[in-house]
Amino acid sequence: MQLSIQQISKTYPNGVRALDQISLDIPAGMFGLLGPNGAGKSSLMRTMATLQFPDKGTIHFKGQDIFQDKIEYRKQLGYLPQDFGVYPKESASQLLDYFAILKGITSKKDRKIAVDRVLEITNLSDAKNKRVSTFSGGMRQRFGIAQLLLNQPKVMIVDEPTAGLDPAERTRFLNVLRRIGLENIVIFSTHLVEDVREICQDMAVINKGQLLTQIAPKEAVRQLEGNIWETTLPKEKQLAISNTLKALSTHYNDENELVTRVFASQRPSANFEAAPPKLEDYYFLTINQ
Ligand code: ADP
Repeated sequence: MQLSIQQISKTYPNGVRALDQISLDIPAGMFGLLGPNGAGKSSLMRTMATLQFPDKGTIHFKGQDIFQDKIEYRKQLGYLPQDFGVYPKESASQLLDYFAILKGITSKKDRKIAVDRVLEITNLSDAKNKRVSTFSGGMRQRFGIAQLLLNQPKVMIVDEPTAGLDPAERTRFLNVLRRIGLENIVIFSTHLVEDVREICQDMAVINKGQLLTQIAPKEAVRQLEGNIWETTLPKEKQLAISNTLKALSTHYNDENELVTRVFASQRPSANFEAAPPKLEDYYFLTINQ
């Protein structure tokens, strides 16, 4: 089972080239689509969800062209947009029962089984009698996933699901996706490297509509081993040492000193200490290349 994207390009009527010859093969499991704001993530996700057509390129799922056979593909698809909006006063289980009717599950008994199943997967069983309008941001996101799961989709596309969630809600939400990703293709976009590091087997980084890399997060970190250094020297001094240094990020350490991380194949000077690589380093190197 694989979603295969070949040379997708899209220019909006206002002239913005949002996607520029993107090719990706996405297998079952958790796939993170990473990139800064405006990179083209939502455009790519809407295209993979058949909500907009590319100007050029093809997408195949299990060998079938998704645009040729949209109806069949959509039966196997769950798509959660960035903001899915309506938060009605009905309880979670009432609303899911209603969605199940719309999805053609006619037997009341079957609906109850389906609703209980999706509430359990999304960790909402305890909240099933609460009104959805009273849900927290994280519960709403999980409810969004619950209604998609009624279809038992094989491909789940979720646009920036962790934006605005507090750390506990974020972890809970990612764990729900992780469970779905055990058997299905789950693609989610984020600008948080943390999200991808924690749960994805595979990822792509896009910027300005272009694919910069597709790689396993573990492999990305491995590639940087021996090349990341930290210094507490002031920036002017680092620049004086070498103009070949690539500064990746800065943070304050426990002693309240400003620490700069750099990429270099050798220790730039005695003022630099070797540091274990992080996925963030790889991301900054990739988008600034
Ligand atoms: P991301 O999800 O990574 O933030 P988007 O796919 O939303 O990126 O946007 C990529 C680029 O396309 C941005 O420059 C954005 O302003 C532009 N864009 C997105 N949607 C539209 C649209 N419907 N019409 C015109 N421009 C758009």
